Amino acid sequence: MEDCLFCRIASGEIPSSKLYEDDDLVAFYDIDPQAPVHFLVIPKQHIESCGEVDGSNSAVIAKAFELISRLTKERGIDSFRVVSNCGPDAGQSVPHLHFHVLAGRSLAWPPG
Ligand code: AMP
Ligand code: ZN
Repeated sequence: MEDCLFCRIASGEIPSSKLYEDDDLVAFYDIDPQAPVHFLVIPKQHIESCGEVDGSNSAVIAKAFELISRLTKERGIDSFRVVSNCGPDAGQSVPHLHFHVLAGRSLAWPPG
């Protein structure tokens, strides 16, 4: 989608600090980190949120979780949180599905 920030990051049109990229996924550091480690994993394909996952696109979600597992292991991170805000009331500000990966401090529960 032309006017989608994360589609533009995925295509490289908007620069980001990337940790990883392949044909399906990009991982990049959050511009406004909420923990010492805070990166985002996105599908390159535009999926609006977790609420739009179905049989046609769920394979990339499995790949995203494999990638999260790999990237955290490679960095020696054994405690982390994966968050996906879905919809405005849940705090989603960018309508392109993304998984926040947060680590490096103790994280409170329940979230606000
Ligand atoms: P959410 O509010 O859950 O939709 O998450 C969107 C996240 O994208 C926020 O944590 C923002 O800080 C982050 N963000 C927004 N613009 C950029 C950007 N250009 N590069 C990296 N992260 C960004
Ligand atoms: Zn998009």
